[in-house]
Amino acid sequence: MFKENIPLAGHTGYKIGGPARYFFEARNLDELESAVREARKKNLSIFVLGGGTNLLVSDEGFDGLALKPDFHFLEQDGNEVNVGAGIPIAELLNYLITHSLTGLEWAGGLPGTVGGAVRGNAGAFGGETKDLIKSVRSFDIEKLKEVEREAPACDFGYRSSVFKKKGGTEIIMSAVFALKKGDTETVRKSIHEKINYRRERHPLEYPNIGSIFKNVPLTRISADSISLNLPGSTRKSAAIPVKTDPVPVVPAAYLISEAGLKGVSFGGAMVSPKHPNFIVNVLEAKASDVKTLIELVKNEVHGKFGIILEEEVQRI
Ligand SMILES: Cc1cc2nc3c(=O)[nH]c(=O)nc-3n(C[C@H](O)[C@H](O)[C@H](O)COP(=O)(O)OP(=O)(O)OC[C@H]3O[C@@H](n4cnc5c(N)ncnc54)[C@H](O)[C@@H]3O)c2cc1C
Repeated sequence: MFKENIPLAGHTGYKIGGPARYFFEARNLDELESAVREARKKNLSIFVLGGGTNLLVSDEGFDGLALKPDFHFLEQDGNEVNVGAGIPIAELLNYLITHSLTGLEWAGGLPGTVGGAVRGNAGAFGGETKDLIKSVRSFDIEKLKEVEREAPACDFGYRSSVFKKKGGTEIIMSAVFALKKGDTETVRKSIHEKINYRRERHPLEYPNIGSIFKNVPLTRISADSISLNLPGSTRKSAAIPVKTDPVPVVPAAYLISEAGLKGVSFGGAMVSPKHPNFIVNVLEAKASDVKTLIELVKNEVHGKFGIILEEEVQRI
């Protein structure tokens, strides 16, 4: 039932990555369950693929089953919308505009699927996916059964959830978003503002997977007893930009820029001069090129500030 040797580069925002030994798109629970049973029979590891907008797939690819839960439905009940995990966030936002539902405008321009956003509790502009979630339905690949959780049981945290913490043993199938009645034009305008903001600041002209590193919470900086004064600089801590994301953080982009790494390249990959927390694929980059740059950035930022940058992207 599975396709074989499917290049994952075609399924990621980066256009990077070797083949998945097996690949399957499940459109409903029956197909998902059969695929999981088949994979278990063959003793394969399973990797769940959403929109591939946050994935760094190795050049060797994935020696297992890349399983895409392509659940594609939107069902409205009052101000609540039950959304299949495979629906792109952009498609959900279009639906909300058309049906005058407000609450998710902050996600304007957020790439990827509903499943990926729920799993990582994606957020931007002070909003987080968890703020709108009423419940989530998933499939437990170990117990081979459906699980339904109300929001508190999803254990959402900063870019995290129970699904992320369980390390891929549950596949999100759908989520119910609780919204409010709004005004179509106001919702549309607000979403388009976010899209335009991103277009201006993000290097969307090149294949990318968004921010490579997490912003650094201020609490972590003081816990590490790091002086906020920049070495060799006359600027004091007050000059360091702190943004709320949703806790106070120092942007990783700022640290990378201050470490002098804008525009540094290796192979076909480059630290974006436009937004230095993006490493862009400028010329048929390999995953190994990106990994080399990630290590370089980590080392340089650590050397300069004593801060260890943590990766936000998911490696396969
Ligand atoms: C230009 C750009 C801007 C971005 N801006 C933001 C931002 O502002 N805020 C933010 O939070 N993120 C941002 N991202 C990162 C990314 O878009 C989000 O993390 C997104 O939610 C990932 O969704 P996806 O469907 O592409 O997931 P994928 O990249 O396919 O997968 C990411 C992880 O989620 C898991 N996963 C995917 N679907 C499911 C499912 N149905 N069930 C269980 N696990 C699943 C995968 O196994 C993987 O571990 C940005 C990315 C880009 C390229």
